[in-house]
Amino acid sequence: MDPTPRIKLAIQKSGRLTDNSLDLLARCGLKYSRARDQLLCFGENMPLDVLLVRDDDIPDLVQEDVCELGIVGLNVVEEKRLGLAARGTTPLFEQVMTLDYGRCRMSIAVPEEFAYSGPASLEGLRIATTYPNILARWLAGQGVRAGVVTLSGAVEIAPRLGRADVICDLVSTGSTLAANHLTEVETVMESQAVLIRTPVPVAAGKQDWMDKLLKRMDGVQQVKESKYIMLHAPRSALPQIAGLLPGSEHPTIVPLEGTDEKVAVHAVCRENVFWETLERLKAAGASAILVLPVEKMLP
Ligand code: ATP
Ligand code: ZN
Repeated sequence: MDPTPRIKLAIQKSGRLTDNSLDLLARCGLKYSRARDQLLCFGENMPLDVLLVRDDDIPDLVQEDVCELGIVGLNVVEEKRLGLAARGTTPLFEQVMTLDYGRCRMSIAVPEEFAYSGPASLEGLRIATTYPNILARWLAGQGVRAGVVTLSGAVEIAPRLGRADVICDLVSTGSTLAANHLTEVETVMESQAVLIRTPVPVAAGKQDWMDKLLKRMDGVQQVKESKYIMLHAPRSALPQIAGLLPGSEHPTIVPLEGTDEKVAVHAVCRENVFWETLERLKAAGASAILVLPVEKMLP
């Protein structure tokens, strides 16, 4: 028998997505060995190898079927997709899951002294960006004609260097913009990390492991926000209490020894449980409320 063929998953080698991506894989149960500065993590307990590369190369690696899976920012995927489409090539990667990290937005920012009054203010200007295709699509959608200056990095200093009038760049906190005396004026797109896969059929053995990995990733994402709530409630208050449990469909009702009026309610809440929710539950008649973290979940 052939050994199980190995799946290759590309992630960013060193950057904003690296730690979260490795953490996600560890939570999926992957044990790997990684020598310092090596480009490959060898999965010891799954037929899965993790390639560590520059994020910009990830869509290409999946496109060319070198890797079956990749984790990369939606901004990079979109830019690649638009670039391929412009050249008449069909992108050969599919977005299969949105991941809950790497959140940022692509925004237009102008120098502090710039009198901005809407997209029309950008007409005829030079806009520096690392994402020319996404910017061009947005400009076209706004009916604005502007020059797109493509830079490979350090976009935020382009106006000071006289290379552009304004910029279009990724922002999360806005501190880089502030440090460069730039003001954010438009959001071009929202982004976060996504999982992409090759649409090319893979061998059955590989596909089984890919399905398993995707289910585990989904489970990991769901438990992050999930909580297990246990409480006691008068039977008469059950409809109201069930309505207050955030993101929980079918609570379990358990009888309590020695009483018919009260029951125990157990529920998995798929949204964060805040103090306000507990206070409302209490006001509705609940008592002995316990909120526990959920360690693993397989829907
Ligand atoms: P590489 O060396 O891999 O090319 P990079 O400099 O292109 O790295 P990073 O700055 O590490 O990439 O960002 C990786 C991804 O993280 C971005 O493409 C984006 O999806 C996401 N991201 C989240 N917040 C930010 C932010 N404030 N600035 C830039 N990217 C962000
Ligand atoms: Zn990059």
